[in-house]
Amino acid sequence: MTHNAKIPFLDLVTPHLELQDELVKIFTSALRTAAFVGGPAVEGFERDFAQFCEVGHCVGVNSGTDALRFALIAAGVQQGDVVLTVPMTFIATTEAITQAGARADFVDIDTRSYTMDPEKLRAYLETRCDVNKETGRLIHRDLHRPVTAVIPVHLYGQTADMDAILKLAARYKMIVIEDACQAHGAEYFSKKENRWRKAGSMGQAAAFSFYPGKNLGACGEGGAVTTHDEQLARKIRMLRDHGQSKKYYHEMEGYNGRLDSIQAGILQVKLRHLAEWNDKRRNAAARYQELLAPMADDIKVPFEPNWAKSIYHLYVILTRDRDRLIEHLGTAGIGTGIHYPIPVHLQTPYRVLGYKEGDFPVSERVAAEAVSLPMHAHLSPEQQRLIAESLFAFMSLGMPAA
Ligand SMILES: *Cc1c(COP(=O)(O)O)cnc(C)c1O
Repeated sequence: MTHNAKIPFLDLVTPHLELQDELVKIFTSALRTAAFVGGPAVEGFERDFAQFCEVGHCVGVNSGTDALRFALIAAGVQQGDVVLTVPMTFIATTEAITQAGARADFVDIDTRSYTMDPEKLRAYLETRCDVNKETGRLIHRDLHRPVTAVIPVHLYGQTADMDAILKLAARYKMIVIEDACQAHGAEYFSKKENRWRKAGSMGQAAAFSFYPGKNLGACGEGGAVTTHDEQLARKIRMLRDHGQSKKYYHEMEGYNGRLDSIQAGILQVKLRHLAEWNDKRRNAAARYQELLAPMADDIKVPFEPNWAKSIYHLYVILTRDRDRLIEHLGTAGIGTGIHYPIPVHLQTPYRVLGYKEGDFPVSERVAAEAVSLPMHAHLSPEQQRLIAESLFAFMSLGMPAA
């Protein structure tokens, strides 16, 4: 039996203990210089993260939510526009759309990759929108509003099928903002460009979160926008700092959305280990695939298309008896999570949009059956074996005798 294996879902202690001396130095140096907001630490991290994402510009902000909101506003999304995303995401994606003054609408995810289904996006654009002959703008037929942007979400650390999405966006002159909040270092093979591209380098701009539990996490809040577009980066720098380019000279109204210097310093140290941590997660995922293969009738494991290199922010399996399985694992001391139990279109604040159960069946199925197993860079093969054993015990219990 696997009683009290004590395998946490996430380990936020070990990586920081390993780097403790370096991290403490960041803090003591901030105390000595009183550089708490802005300054060389923020610029240094921005430069390193831009290089990591293979983009020209990175702007550090206060959270992934800020990053999404600022990217939408800076890219030109206007009051009353419709912005498309998926219902299977964290609510921050749609909060940012609403807070930028737009209305969120949804396209369902693909049954295997769980990211935006480009065919459903195409169907939405072709059957529910018209191109206005005079203005050339894409207008939603029932809502009579312009559809101006799309936010593909690189869910669980795996990129959406960007070639197809970018092609549609170009045809209909839509802005593409990547939600890369779970995808620091994920890659996508673009057939069009015949090369691997980094998450965060494919849209007009992309949003990253450095919430502690993400693959690159701060010791507090943090986020960043990446972009190739210098003008866009400049606008976002102003938006994060009350619309000023020079102290007390405000070109527009902005926000208080800066990345603080201590977090930037910490992120710069941790970024040096990110590629190695991501590799460890990929190895752990491969081990899970092997261990869980005999349970293929009861457990649907993650699918990585040949165009994706996932960084496994989460390792999510689908199973019909989800709630009892979570209880069984919990009793054995194995931590789990659900990402996410309710798809966004069925969450209370979006009732006004008028959606009901059955409208986005793929997202709803994932919401009903998803279990996130322990996944982090310090997960050991032995722990994974114990998790697989516990899963096996549960499945055998539930199965009729052969
Ligand atoms: C974490 C996350 C966000 C929001 O990031 P915060 O830093 O918590 O504001 C947005 N989208 C997705 C998909 C996320 O996972």
